[in-house]
Amino acid sequence: MSESLFSDASQRLEQALKYATISEDAIERLKYPKASLSVAIPVRMDDGSLRIFQGYRVRYDDTRGPGKGGVRYHPNVSMDEVQSLAFWMTFKCAALNLPFGGAKGGITLNPKLLSKFELERLSRGYIDAIADFIGPDTDILAPDVYTNPMIMGWMMDQYSIIQRKMTPGVVTGKPVAMGGSLGRDTATAMGAFYVIQALLPKFDRLPGKTTVAVQGFGNAGSVIAELLFHAGYKVVAVSDSQGAIYAPKGLDIPSILHFKNMVKGVQAVYCDGTVCNVVEHQVLTNAELLALDVDVLIPAALENQITQDNVADVKARFIFEVANGPIASGADRILEQRGVHVFPDILVNAGGVTVSYFEWVQNRSGLYWTLEEVNRNLQQRMVQETERIWTIAQDLSISLRTAAYVHALNRLGEALDAKGTRDYYMK
Ligand code: GLU
Repeated sequence: MSESLFSDASQRLEQALKYATISEDAIERLKYPKASLSVAIPVRMDDGSLRIFQGYRVRYDDTRGPGKGGVRYHPNVSMDEVQSLAFWMTFKCAALNLPFGGAKGGITLNPKLLSKFELERLSRGYIDAIADFIGPDTDILAPDVYTNPMIMGWMMDQYSIIQRKMTPGVVTGKPVAMGGSLGRDTATAMGAFYVIQALLPKFDRLPGKTTVAVQGFGNAGSVIAELLFHAGYKVVAVSDSQGAIYAPKGLDIPSILHFKNMVKGVQAVYCDGTVCNVVEHQVLTNAELLALDVDVLIPAALENQITQDNVADVKARFIFEVANGPIASGADRILEQRGVHVFPDILVNAGGVTVSYFEWVQNRSGLYWTLEEVNRNLQQRMVQETERIWTIAQDLSISLRTAAYVHALNRLGEALDAKGTRDYYMK
């Protein structure tokens, strides 16, 4: 794709602007990231050699509160990608009415090629490099693709060492033993599940009669597949970065999860205790999974999976974006014309950052919630904002994506204008 990810992402903003209540000044402000930092991180490798890694942190907007967003470790991380992800975080936090702006970070590397010690030195080095840019009241980190609670714990510890005081609120998604929240690990998938359960009945879709394909078997994809399986949906295909498996009669997701934890790859199996037997299935590529004739498709891997090149192959009637930005804007328009219902990332995957918010609140108050309290609050917020976005879409006859942006823009516009605009200074 020749166009940058960021210019593609900003097209969503353009489409929503005509429906939102927002001043010209506020619109102009939202077209640019507030601050972008690029750092070189020197790391002593286990063999004694020195390697320099490229890292980024972008704070897109902090009008509604401190910047908030994850840190991604992936070979494709670039300033363009981090900026786009920070842009999405801005609208996600506003859509869910979290008192945060949007931010994102990343390091360009394949984390699978580093030892645990190297990863720890890299993660601590990243915090050393960006320490002046972040903080519990300025910009708060979290996990994203290929980062996890262990890495968040190192980052929080490093920041606390630099500050010479325990500062748990600078990072969310930490291990529970270090001030993490119960339920944060499953929050992205739980949030998506609540959205799916709120929306599919509006189309008279019953779980037992609904087939689902899930692309990506990481923290979000594997948990959503399991939740849907237990709710009675027929999950017929799942995939990881190596490839996909497909069984038209439905897969036994708990067995696949059990097996994946043992061998680090997906395979259609049925496990009895620790004994797993391979069951009949087809092996597909990730591209073939996207083209399956299923009711619901859940991209839960990376951005730009459905583009103008493969959108014609997509047969699903409903797409829930658990990944950030899995559908390019050109493909989005075609899906809309074809009447495919696309439920946007900034709503569907917002459960993660919502429980991050709960974690931050718990860190600041020092009072910790039960899992039941976390999930009840998550469900309440996800369903409330889903219904509001649904109503906007119905009232204005626009897509759910545009409605989610309108909803976020109305809140952002109000906050930006409340801060003082040109009109204020000219009076
Ligand atoms: N990385 C997640 C996202 O893209 C979570 C961010 C957070 O919890 O701050 O929404």
